[in-house]
Amino acid sequence: MTRSAFMTPSAPNRVWDVERIRKDFPALHQQVHGKPLVYLDNAATSQKPQAVIDALVAYYTFDNSNVHRGVHLLSERATEAYEGARARIQRHLNAASPREIVFIRQATEGINLVMASYGRRFVGAGDEIVISAIEHHANIVPWQMLCEEKGARLRVVPIDDRGDLLMEEYARLLGPRTKLVAITQVSNALGTVTPIKDIIGLAHQQDIPVLIDGAQAVPHQPVDVRDLDCDFYVFSGHKAYGPTGIGVLYGKEQWLERMPPFQGGGDMIKSVTFEKTIYNELPYKFEAGTPHIAGAIGLAAGLEYIAGLGLEQIRDYEHELLAYGTELLSAISRVRLIGTARHKGAVLSFVLDGVHAHDLGTILDQQGVAVRAGHHCAMPVMQRFGVPATARASMAFYNTRGEVETLAAAIERAREIFS
Ligand code: PMP
Repeated sequence: MTRSAFMTPSAPNRVWDVERIRKDFPALHQQVHGKPLVYLDNAATSQKPQAVIDALVAYYTFDNSNVHRGVHLLSERATEAYEGARARIQRHLNAASPREIVFIRQATEGINLVMASYGRRFVGAGDEIVISAIEHHANIVPWQMLCEEKGARLRVVPIDDRGDLLMEEYARLLGPRTKLVAITQVSNALGTVTPIKDIIGLAHQQDIPVLIDGAQAVPHQPVDVRDLDCDFYVFSGHKAYGPTGIGVLYGKEQWLERMPPFQGGGDMIKSVTFEKTIYNELPYKFEAGTPHIAGAIGLAAGLEYIAGLGLEQIRDYEHELLAYGTELLSAISRVRLIGTARHKGAVLSFVLDGVHAHDLGTILDQQGVAVRAGHHCAMPVMQRFGVPATARASMAFYNTRGEVETLAAAIERAREIFS
């Protein structure tokens, strides 16, 4: 098999033409420090296809206007494009209605919205929120803040040495005091893919709602919120090939209806008097102020692009890259992979014995290889594995086997420098 001729199991007759796909991403074709860029920091943010850049330029060139308010043509066009984006995202997630799709700034804001709105209404003293040991800080800190405010308690599902959740412990943590389960679908620090259907099923047996942090899932695989039956689902546009500053909160209508607004202001009201304000209907009740119109349009273009490639094929191809990378890195002496869960997204977190992750990251950068070095906003994960930081190579469907080889060679080079 040639490098670009991987045939995905979900489409055995279709060749994954990675070289053709790469042509759609202008940022990939540049040199850094005199070396071809090997971009392996996709879990932090992804590069943008030309289709997304074009959608942003077209919006600002022709349709730029405020939504929902103007009577003039440009405003109508902007509103149509913005609501069209919402409908596109609803289809992408298979949500039941556009009323369930709330535009937010990013996953972080979505979690804070649920914390502030659901949390303040439904969580009280002595109640419990269940998260897991592999959460991003965005899915830890808001719940700590809520617990502090309400006198509630945070319970944490532990993991084993591979980075898999201990599901028996999870089941034991659920009880009459549990008011919400908030768990990631894919860990950014370890790559662990969690058994979210089981997580949701067990919580629902006790009528406990579940929020899924899909920041690392939406860019890499199909997501069907109705099939999952989750109550809330959040993701960020910028990791899913869309712009920064835009994200999505999916919430079941029955929950969103019962929740108070997150922020007050224009657009989230039906009428205002000094005596009483009537809030707008869903989803606008949660969208105070002028939204990131171009961002929503760009995000819809990004999701359209990946849907066009095939989400199952993306997952299969990235899985193949992960297997190849795991094989190459495991063969390098003094390299230790952190996170070897049974089911993993295309994340290789690793340490090189005797070399700090930041030094390693800098040496890789000198060779054109962009990885992330640090705690990946998951300090408890680092503590669990007894390391201050890791280097993390996170792959996307536009990465190649050749780039994975370049990564491995760059790590070998770093090992020689520090030997
Ligand atoms: N959750 C996970 C699993 C993430 O990987 C990230 C980003 N690294 C976030 C939440 C937060 O994303 P954002 O900063 O875009 O809100």
